[in-house]
Amino acid sequence: MNGAGRIEKIGPRLRMPRGGRAIDAGGGLVLPSFVDSHLHLDLAYSLDVVKPNKSGTLMEAIRHWDEAKRRLTPDNVRDRAIRAIHAEVSFGTGFIRTHVDVGTGAGLRLVEGVLAAREACKHLVDIQIAVFPQDGILKDPGAFDQMRGALERGCDLVGGIAHNERTEDDSVRHIEMLFELAAEFDANIDCHIDETDDPCSRCTEYLAAKTIECGWQGRVTASHVCALSSYDNVHAKKVIDLLHDARVSVVTNPGVNLHLQGRYDRYPKRRGLTRVTELLDAGVNVAVGQDCIRDPFYPFGTGQMLDVAHALAHADHLTTPRQLNQVMDAITVGGAKALHIDKYGVRVGCRADLVVLPVGDVHEALRTRPIPTHVLKGGRLIKP
Ligand SMILES: [Zn+2]
Repeated sequence: MNGAGRIEKIGPRLRMPRGGRAIDAGGGLVLPSFVDSHLHLDLAYSLDVVKPNKSGTLMEAIRHWDEAKRRLTPDNVRDRAIRAIHAEVSFGTGFIRTHVDVGTGAGLRLVEGVLAAREACKHLVDIQIAVFPQDGILKDPGAFDQMRGALERGCDLVGGIAHNERTEDDSVRHIEMLFELAAEFDANIDCHIDETDDPCSRCTEYLAAKTIECGWQGRVTASHVCALSSYDNVHAKKVIDLLHDARVSVVTNPGVNLHLQGRYDRYPKRRGLTRVTELLDAGVNVAVGQDCIRDPFYPFGTGQMLDVAHALAHADHLTTPRQLNQVMDAITVGGAKALHIDKYGVRVGCRADLVVLPVGDVHEALRTRPIPTHVLKGGRLIKP
């Protein structure tokens, strides 16, 4: 690699710039740094300060979080976010897209905390911040102005939660407002959408249609998209084709949706994820997120993207050799495409953002989920 933090030559050893010491990768697997395409840094490690989620549902978690976030200070948010970033980096994540709550309850205090954490960790990881109106936009008058304020302070993307409005008409208006804000700031969009088992929740098709209407193809991410699995097959095909035509990336969060969805089912219980296999077969870009680390929405989560990929492989039966490569792609190149990361990969001229795993191939990486032996950012060794 060269002094500009790019890969200069591919050879049997990782060699550092300006005569730096060579790293012996020990025959390990060298991959581009993992991409966590969906995380909530403001929520990380907040489980202990929030009431227990007795129903295990998304909506109860949102209610308890709403009470707790009113008491949080930017310093508290920053410290927990830095802890989560360090965990993610130690497992080889080099790129994170985080959603951060804004609204009349959160104000901009959570955004301030995460912006400070991003600044403190900029030598370790690239972080994109989506401004996230967790409590809705129409349900929470004032949230839209807070979103604008957060974008003015340096956040990157317009976030949303279209299904968390009172009526279908309000969900439609919510999506329209996201595009209005995106046009104002020339920003990309990443919207939490149809994170429910309700087969009547139909926001995703409207997001995709609006993407085409506004000429925002390739600039929109649909996060979760759980209801797609509850549609009948004919309607699901229509929505998947629409996502493809709109070049919308879909981010699935397998651990969290296995946990939060299916909560109103008896048996059999739905798995809660979107139709990952069918999206991939249709050529839709799919990326993956940890989503939550020890918070009211999910009591687990370590920041280890190989664990998240492992859950995905189980949840949607992605276990043939070809599918295991697709799963690895979803935490690497799929994430890079969703996040528009330039010069990503293990090729000459790409960023030397790399992770070395002590295994021989992708299958073993997913089976054993090892701790990386080396993590590099911009050609610099940041672990060990
Ligand atoms: Zn989320």
